[in-house]
Amino acid sequence: MKTAVVALGGNAISPVGEVDTIAKQFTQTRKSLNAIIQLLKNDILPVISHGNGPQVGSALLRTEMTADKLMYLPLGICVADTEGGMGYMIEQSLQNRLRDENINRTVVTLVTQVVVSKDDPSITDPSKFIGPALPEEDARRRAKRFGWQIKPYGEDKWRRVVPSPEPIEIVNREAIRHLVENGHIVIAAGGGGVPVYYDEHGNLEGMDAVIDKDRASALMANQIGAETLFILTAVPKVALNFGKPDQVWLDHMTIREAERYLAEGHFPGGSMGPKIEAAVKFLKNGGQRVVITDIETLSEQFNDTLGTVITRD
Ligand code: ADP
Ligand code: MG
Repeated sequence: MKTAVVALGGNAISPVGEVDTIAKQFTQTRKSLNAIIQLLKNDILPVISHGNGPQVGSALLRTEMTADKLMYLPLGICVADTEGGMGYMIEQSLQNRLRDENINRTVVTLVTQVVVSKDDPSITDPSKFIGPALPEEDARRRAKRFGWQIKPYGEDKWRRVVPSPEPIEIVNREAIRHLVENGHIVIAAGGGGVPVYYDEHGNLEGMDAVIDKDRASALMANQIGAETLFILTAVPKVALNFGKPDQVWLDHMTIREAERYLAEGHFPGGSMGPKIEAAVKFLKNGGQRVVITDIETLSEQFNDTLGTVITRD
């Protein structure tokens, strides 16, 4: 059996354009598992990661709103909490589905620490927007109270910014590898994992930052020797001139082509850009193949020409 890391996008768990509830998240998660089952039926053992944008946004807002009455939860803790909670949802949904499908495999969620450099440039100049867009005065007041850094956002709003450092090492990669070698389905690096760094004594310390889930997924895929990285998002393929009249869907890209299109600005920073950068890094570090598509496409078919395939050459 081959191993693939499968990075689930935000829309795999949170229904788009609806008021979010846990019941709806469970429904959406169960639907998304069709793609995971498809991989298992095609002899691919998935290691599952997932985004946590809306969930960590809610966790932060909740702790800010209750800061007068309850202890305030720093961002690193909110990331760990959502990793556990979302992992539980996916784990249990998958356990029930495997039982229905008569697939006899264990599912386990690991709250994953991911090492970053304490000198990462994003720490002194954070630029990852997080939480709601606010009027300037409101943003400044909260920044002072909670120790946020804020930056202008859009025309006349301000928003909290946090560091989004480059992931360097998955702390429990050996444990993940052993579980995978024994055929277990692992859910790990959810929300990009909890960012940690080594202090001057070599101890791990938490950091209030977020790691891009596609970058963390690509690193995890390399560190456990996965052959393929599936990035499941809200589009069936990657496009050139995305959203414009001359849009073209891409079936295949080499590393060189991907780098050229990146340089030409086809893949924006907050969405497709980090996916393509993560894909290129995974391939350069020994990965065989990256597939970018949506859950519906993978649920319906499985072949070598699914979505946009990226290979070394
Ligand atoms: P996720 O939650 O899966 O990480 P994102 O919203 O961060 O998803 O990024 C995926 C989105 O990027 C797509 O749904 C699409 O709207 C957008 N996108 C931007 N540029 C492109 C492109 N060149 N090709 C395809 N999709 C693109
Ligand atoms: Mg994203």
